[in-house]
Amino acid sequence: MAKKLARKKSTARPAARAKAPVKYVYFFGRKTDGNGTMKPLLGGKGANLAEMCRIGLPVPAGFTITTEVCTYYYANKRSYPPTLRGEMEAGIKALEKQSGKTFGDLTNPLLVSVRSGARDSMPGMMDTILNLGLNDQTVEALATKTGNARFAWDCYRRFVQMYCDVVLGVQKRADEDHDPFETVIHRLKHDRYHQDIDDTRLTVDDLKELVVRFKALVKERVGKQFPVSPWDQLLGAVGAVFGSWMNDRAIVYRRKYNIPTEWGTAVNVQAMVYGNTGDNSGSGVAFTRNPANGVKEFYGEFLINAQGEDVVAGVRTPEPVAELKKQMPKAYGELERIRQTLEKHFKDVQDFEFTIEDGVVYMLQTRNGKRTAMAALKFAIDMQKEKLIDWKTAILRNPADQLEQLLAPVFDLAEVAKAKVIATGLPAGPGAASGQIYLNADRAVVAADKGEKVLLVRVETSPEDLRGMIAAEGILTARGGVSSHAALVARQMGKVCVCGAAAVEVDYQARTVSVDGQTFKEGDWMSIDGTIGQVYAGQVKTAPSEIVAGLIDGDEKAKKTEKFRNFQQLMKWCSDATRMVVRTNADTPEQTANAMAFGAVGIGLTRTEHMFFEGDRIDAMREMILAETLEERKAALAKLLPYQRDDFAGIFRALKGYPATIRFLDPPLHEFLPHTKEQQEELAKKIGVAAARIHQRVEGLHEFNPMLGFRGCRLGIGYPEISAMQARAVFEAAAIVQKEGIKVRPEIMIPLVGFKKELDLQIEVVHQAAREVQAEQKVKLNYMVGTMIEIPRGALTADEIAQSAEFFSFGTNDLTQTGLGMSRDDSGSFLPQYQELEIVKKNPFATIDASGVGQLVEIAVTKGRATRPNLKLGICGEHGGDPASIQFFEKVGLDYVSCSPYRVPVARLAAAQAALQAKTK
Ligand code: PEP
Ligand code: MG
Repeated sequence: MAKKLARKKSTARPAARAKAPVKYVYFFGRKTDGNGTMKPLLGGKGANLAEMCRIGLPVPAGFTITTEVCTYYYANKRSYPPTLRGEMEAGIKALEKQSGKTFGDLTNPLLVSVRSGARDSMPGMMDTILNLGLNDQTVEALATKTGNARFAWDCYRRFVQMYCDVVLGVQKRADEDHDPFETVIHRLKHDRYHQDIDDTRLTVDDLKELVVRFKALVKERVGKQFPVSPWDQLLGAVGAVFGSWMNDRAIVYRRKYNIPTEWGTAVNVQAMVYGNTGDNSGSGVAFTRNPANGVKEFYGEFLINAQGEDVVAGVRTPEPVAELKKQMPKAYGELERIRQTLEKHFKDVQDFEFTIEDGVVYMLQTRNGKRTAMAALKFAIDMQKEKLIDWKTAILRNPADQLEQLLAPVFDLAEVAKAKVIATGLPAGPGAASGQIYLNADRAVVAADKGEKVLLVRVETSPEDLRGMIAAEGILTARGGVSSHAALVARQMGKVCVCGAAAVEVDYQARTVSVDGQTFKEGDWMSIDGTIGQVYAGQVKTAPSEIVAGLIDGDEKAKKTEKFRNFQQLMKWCSDATRMVVRTNADTPEQTANAMAFGAVGIGLTRTEHMFFEGDRIDAMREMILAETLEERKAALAKLLPYQRDDFAGIFRALKGYPATIRFLDPPLHEFLPHTKEQQEELAKKIGVAAARIHQRVEGLHEFNPMLGFRGCRLGIGYPEISAMQARAVFEAAAIVQKEGIKVRPEIMIPLVGFKKELDLQIEVVHQAAREVQAEQKVKLNYMVGTMIEIPRGALTADEIAQSAEFFSFGTNDLTQTGLGMSRDDSGSFLPQYQELEIVKKNPFATIDASGVGQLVEIAVTKGRATRPNLKLGICGEHGGDPASIQFFEKVGLDYVSCSPYRVPVARLAAAQAALQAKTK
């Protein structure tokens, strides 16, 4: 890690380093050094603060310490560049000059906030400190200066709490369900008032007592004194922000979202503005449009007389921002103006934080708002109509990974009408989820690992709950608003979420949830609808989304919905933008039809072996395997032929003229035989052979590593009559369907080829069958014969193989397994650790290992096309539905990707995006 960071630093800005010393601090305010394009150096927050200053929005002045300092910090045993302190002092001086206040002053003290700011926002992962600069003396100065002792002590109480948590490390222990500071507050309220009262009702004396109790808690927990000097506080806070880049939560988050460790975070130090000076002040978080459903409305929430952390932490349930119109009309008008300015300037939906201090609005942050797939789609379509963006940008605005959310089920309407609504909360993450409830993240993870559908229920969530949220189908919280941690994270993950369902009483001790007079234990079922915010008792059946209903079931009502129409518009644009087309991996007419409804233009892989498992045909297959003579085997194959022929005919009909790549038998034969004694005896009776013979054959076929053994074209070479039967079935089906007037384009694919001669032997069998069937049926059939490139030798000798193959389809599942020497079935035992250690950045069976296995693909493409310039190239491994892999396949110039039917829209979007990005490079 340190090495990686050090390397990155040394290449960061060589030209600048040679001349002037590196600039580590960028000021924003009256004079602004940075701008919105400088996210790698200033982080997302720092760059956008600078940009907002430049477009004249009201931003409190401050400075950004660059991500290069984070890099330096980890490369140099957690120390700072020698010039940093001087630059920070100059930064504080500039703040003092602009605000007329002085850092640590005993009459008019300057207070600052210290916040992290990575290149990509990491909600809840990094830490923030407000009101820095306060101590037992400056708090009195602030009280005198503002004439508001309650405000001053409220600031101090918050500062001590945050500082002790983030910098001094006083946090919730594994055995605690609540934050220890919240427990202290709770206890004081009960000591003094014998009930829970709102924080705003705490008196100066209460707050003073809280500061004393907090300091005692710190002493007891970590044996440390709270630092008095503002500069010690500032340096400690900056170090804590950099330190938090490597905390567990940040690491988990980065891993999930593939954020490179070496990016580092910046730190923003900014003059404080106060939302807690009284009822003419407040803090809020807002979106320029609704990030849950995409509606163009001012959306967000605020708390009167509160600092920003209260809104995000979900401790108090805030009010909708529309309420501000009544309570502070002037500030609301200003926010509306800001909302318009932001969208016009950034041309995307913004998620921003603001503070109102004594009626004046200040902007603390803006960034592109996280959104659900549904909102992303509506934003893109609406903004294109409004001419804020063009259609190509609209395509790029839909994250391909998220698109599947649009196909996610909703509650079955008939079922949900019968279900009992037991509580209502805020609709924070759309969709429908039903699951067994768990009240703690660890237990949720264990239950999900056992295969249970889990609903995580919490009073509120914090970043510690991330693992549980990942494991859960849905999340339900009793407190918190639509921008609480639970809501933000759920939306980003595409999880169903209802938050702030106040009627839900969570008892962590008893592990029960009481609501509406009922008590639910862990493991009981509940259901939530995150689109409308309702909570139901028990399990509720789900129904397909409007898109699936419209496309697959032809439901006319569904087709009229805005969601359906927007989706179709997006897919149309994708067709216009794409270079690669998308085929599907399908083994049945139904799967084929579904994929075509989603826009697939052919089959990229039919695994013919799947057809042998249905109904009685497995018996004929087994007879074939057990045959001892060629005659016996041919007799069994003759039974299989009509089944195959019917299957292929069905697929050809469903394809309506689109091509079908049909792969000949691939798996080792033992996979078709029964392995237990009982099953063998049953089969013996059924097909009239001795059980001992079956047993003997199973033993004979046993292999130590069947994935590398007698399979693929090796079977067809060992038993050419199997390939002959399959070829005949394809051509007979083709003849039948062609005579019905439907165009048929079979592409016969020979698996696991490593030598040209292997392919040649099989091609001859195919041509022979074609000749026979064409003569018998008096038809002329158009067909191709090609191969899978799925073992390294095949890729390396692609120039030779392309002399015979009319097309290649990359079998990246096997190419990954053979290229990496990692079994695709067993690598689960060590791959998670490999990912944790960053030996592999992503699971190579899900996302192509571009720098390793990808080279084999590139070699095969280059060599194959050198021999046969019009060689058709596709990919049919699982990577064909993975957006990151699709980027790679675009880069190497494949003609198509093939994936499972429900991934087709994702692949179409990813392929269109890859094509657009390739053009802009
Ligand atoms: C592959 O190996 O990538 C492939 C598509 O074939 P299978 O998964 O059936 O081995
Ligand atoms: Mg394979």
